[in-house]
Amino acid sequence: MRQKLRPHRGAFAVPDGARWYRLVQAAGGAPRDKPGRRPVAAVRLSAMHESPEPMVVSTTLRERVSDELLPRVRQPAQYIGGEVNQLVGPGDWEQAEVRVALAFPDAYTIGMSHLGCQILYWLCNHTPGVCAERTYAPWADAERVMRQRGLPLFTWDTRQPVRDADILAISLQYELCFTTVLNMLDLAGIPLRSADRTDAHPLVVAGGPQADNPEPMAEFLDLVVIGDGEHSLAAILDAYRQYKRDGVPRREMIPLLARRFPWIYAPNLYDVRYKPDGTIAALVPKLDGLPARIERCRTPDFDAAPFPERPLVPWVPVVHDRISIEIMRGCPQVCRFCHAGYTKRPLFYRSVERVLEIAERAYRATGHDQLGLLSLSTADYPLLPELAARLNARFAPRMVNLSFPSLRIDRMLRHIPWMASGVRKGSITLAVEAARDDLRAAIRKKVTDGNLMDGLREVYRAGWQRVKLYFMAGFPGERDDDITGIWDLSLAVSQERRRLGRPPARVTAAVGWLVPKPFTPFQWAAQAPPEYFHDVRRRLLHLQRSRPGAVCIRTHNVATSILEAVMARGDRRLGAVIHEAWRRGARFDGWAETFDASIWQRAFDAVGVDPAWYARRERTFDEVLPWDHIGLRIGRDFLVRSYLDYCQRLAAARGVQPQTAALPQRA
Ligand code: SF4
Repeated sequence: MRQKLRPHRGAFAVPDGARWYRLVQAAGGAPRDKPGRRPVAAVRLSAMHESPEPMVVSTTLRERVSDELLPRVRQPAQYIGGEVNQLVGPGDWEQAEVRVALAFPDAYTIGMSHLGCQILYWLCNHTPGVCAERTYAPWADAERVMRQRGLPLFTWDTRQPVRDADILAISLQYELCFTTVLNMLDLAGIPLRSADRTDAHPLVVAGGPQADNPEPMAEFLDLVVIGDGEHSLAAILDAYRQYKRDGVPRREMIPLLARRFPWIYAPNLYDVRYKPDGTIAALVPKLDGLPARIERCRTPDFDAAPFPERPLVPWVPVVHDRISIEIMRGCPQVCRFCHAGYTKRPLFYRSVERVLEIAERAYRATGHDQLGLLSLSTADYPLLPELAARLNARFAPRMVNLSFPSLRIDRMLRHIPWMASGVRKGSITLAVEAARDDLRAAIRKKVTDGNLMDGLREVYRAGWQRVKLYFMAGFPGERDDDITGIWDLSLAVSQERRRLGRPPARVTAAVGWLVPKPFTPFQWAAQAPPEYFHDVRRRLLHLQRSRPGAVCIRTHNVATSILEAVMARGDRRLGAVIHEAWRRGARFDGWAETFDASIWQRAFDAVGVDPAWYARRERTFDEVLPWDHIGLRIGRDFLVRSYLDYCQRLAAARGVQPQTAALPQRA
């Protein structure tokens, strides 16, 4: 679940003294980036305060950002760029043959925590002739100043106008970033709709998990990359450079790239035809040679793929402020609701030696005191005990902690205490998803109450006192006791600590609402109605009041989950709604303090689209889905069988007929 943090307020921030000392100590002096370049710290300081060096271009924008924007915004440090390990310096942009603006459509504090963006930044800037600079979404106060003063969206590294890039590469991570994408395009001075752009505008290319169903954003994107970013971006850069040398105009590159690479989709080169009932009849290419089906790009050699060995160190506290190393891509668990579990296949593992090598280099380049082993399910990394032991042996003496962001609750949980012996015993987070064994088995979450409690006893013995449990509500066929079970199980997890003669654990139960996702067996299922989610919330809070202090219940925002469900399975008719919502002021919809459900309701009304048709309608197996032309390695038939299996298993476990368990009506 995405964390939502308010951007930090306060004065101009610099790294605290302890971190800076560690950084310099680890690096053996001030860190440097490319050989022969001035120390990054010196570049950073000149970017902030010193007399600007003579610049080839953009001196004016650089100065205007310093003079007109930074003094007028909260936490200006998030906009200054020039962080430790920045790879771009003065003059690089101007000299590059291909200029890329890497856009993360969210605040700096989120974007800087995103490993994928650091990977692409590293990859581009280690490609000869290419310069990539980063850009993030300005927060509301910065946007206001930029619009008042006519400041265009700029890149963080050397403050270039984003519209001057050859390629604007946008990372689509979640459904609620769409209006922020439009806002960034508008601030950059780039026409929102692909059809309105000319050869003077950058190619707008999107990728990331949400690009798997790009249809709601179809009219705003020139190209969409399906699958992994490393291999695809390298290939696009290569092709773009060649086309540019050959004098091919940018807009003509769109069909050339779409024909050349099987994992590129140019949505505006396809027509969608609809049936009278509003469902899709067909998606038809407008030009010859375009593929009817878009494949998924996979990185051919994951272990050797480019990885940022000198990651950027943010100026301000961010969501994940540590060294992050992706040790595995994909997840062997394949829980039925999980989009990543089905789309990131086959599995790839990074070798222990390579992880150790990256960890050493990244530590020396950053001075971080935390090392995160990232993957969708870190406990499934086959060599985790060996890796953890070797990392601990090397880094525990340096007071560097290991962190495991996603833990599976089975026998592996017992190993966590010794593997993470240096970890601060704060809170341990476990995704149990459902409260009862039979529902967990039906969604393929391989957890039982028994192995949960066995593992927790080991964790409590090792010193942990706080547990955060993630649950989901709204599964097809869910019953009352699945909801009360959330409370019962959370209470039992808390009380289990008493068995060791210690006070009960402090348990937080975070309850989210099922958003049926494309490319999962639930892609045909109806989302539960909002009244159901509100009722679940009321009941759980009532149980919490009945025993104050035992368990803290937290629930997700119902309105945002419904909007996610609409966008996740939407078609390109939603583009008008997104545009209308943006025009009415929607931005940062993933943030509790900025999301405004009434704006979206008015936008749906104005455009004449019923959100319930997208969120709450159960699809039939023969319906053409908006993302059916995007490839899935395991195939659609597998998903059909998996959905039927879910219904039958749950029905069998509960002694009812499968027909009562939310089967599609015309299966
Ligand atoms: S374990 Fe997590 S990442 Fe893996 S399939 Fe299940 S929900 Fe997805």
